[in-house]
Amino acid sequence: MIWFKRAAPCPLRGSTVVITGASSGIGRATALEFARKGAHVVVAARRADALESLVRECEHLGVDALAVKTDVSDENAVDELAQRAVERFGGFDIWVNNAGLYLAGAFVDVPSQDFRRVIDVNLSGYVYGIRAALRQFQEQQHGVIINTCSVAGVVPLPYFTAYTTAKFGVLGLGLALRQELRGTGIEVCTVLPSSVDTPIFQHAGNYLGQPLKAMTPTYRPEEAARVIVGVAQRPRRMAVVGGFGRLITWLYPLVPTLFERLAAPLLRSQRNLSIGLRHRAGEITEGGPQTRSERRWSALAG
Ligand code: NDP
Repeated sequence: MIWFKRAAPCPLRGSTVVITGASSGIGRATALEFARKGAHVVVAARRADALESLVRECEHLGVDALAVKTDVSDENAVDELAQRAVERFGGFDIWVNNAGLYLAGAFVDVPSQDFRRVIDVNLSGYVYGIRAALRQFQEQQHGVIINTCSVAGVVPLPYFTAYTTAKFGVLGLGLALRQELRGTGIEVCTVLPSSVDTPIFQHAGNYLGQPLKAMTPTYRPEEAARVIVGVAQRPRRMAVVGGFGRLITWLYPLVPTLFERLAAPLLRSQRNLSIGLRHRAGEITEGGPQTRSERRWSALAG
C-alpha cells in the first residue's frame, strides 16, 4: 500500500514576508498572522500612518517590521519596496500581492479611467510585485509568491466587470507562471477569498446609484489571513477562503448558464437589502480612511 504522507509545514519563524495592501482588511490581518508565527514583515500600502501603527503591533508580537509607503500601480515604487526589504532584512522569502480596489457599476456607466485604475492596481500591481519578487527569488533559488485573487477570478460578477477582469487575469497569471517556474524552488499560489468583511466596500468606487454591501455569507479577514499563511507554509496552486466560495467555484464550471441566468437578478436583489453606505465615484484613486481589519464595514456604516 502506498502512503501519501503530508510534508511538514515550512517553518515561518525568522523568515521575511512582504505584503502589499497591508494597511487594512485582509492584508493587515495577514501581516499580524505572519508576525504571530514569528515572521518579520514588510508592509506596503499608500497610507503611511496606518502602516506605522501596524508596524508597532507587529513589533509587540516580537518580530521586526518595516513600513514602506507604496502605490503598487507604480512599477518603480514596487521595485523600491523590494529593495527596501532587501536592505533591511538581507532578502525576503514570501511576497503577498494583496492590494486591491473594488469598483461597482454597470459596464456602460463606469468611466474608462476608473476601469483602467482597477486594472492598474489589481492586475498590473501584481505583475510588478511578481517581477520584483522573482529577481530576489531567482537569485536565492527559493521563495513563495501568493496572489490574493477572489472567487470572482473563477465566477464572473455582473456589475463588477473591471474587478472580474482583473481577478480573472490574476488567476491566469498565477496558474501560467506556476508552470514556468516548476522545479525552480519558487512557488506561485493563488488564494480566492469569498466575500470578506473588510472596508473594501467602503473604499470602493460605485456607479450603481445605490449603496454597496458585502455579498452574504461574509467571512472574517482573519480567516483569509489564516488561509494565506497556511499556503505560505504548504504552498499549493489554489486555496479558496470560505465554504460558500468552495461551493460556488466548484458549481460554476458545471452549470455556467444556470448561474449566468441567476447572477444578475440575485445581485440586484442583494442591492435592495443594502444597509446605508453611499459612495462617491472616483474615491478609488485616493487612499481611504484609516480602518482596522477587525472593524465591521457594516458597523462603519452605522
Ligand atoms: P481593503 O480595502 O480593506 O484593503 C485593500 C488594501 O489595498 C488596503 O491596504 C489599501 O491601502 C491597499 N491599496 C489600494 N490601492 C492601492 C494602491 N494603489 N497601492 C497600494 N496599496 C493599495 O480590502 P480587502 O482587505 O478586502 O482586500 C484585499 C484583497 O482581497 C484585494 O485584492 C481584494 O480584491 C481581495 N478580496 C477581497 C474580498 C472581500 O470581500 N473583502 C473578496 C475577495 C477578494 P491604501 O488605501 O492605504 O493604499
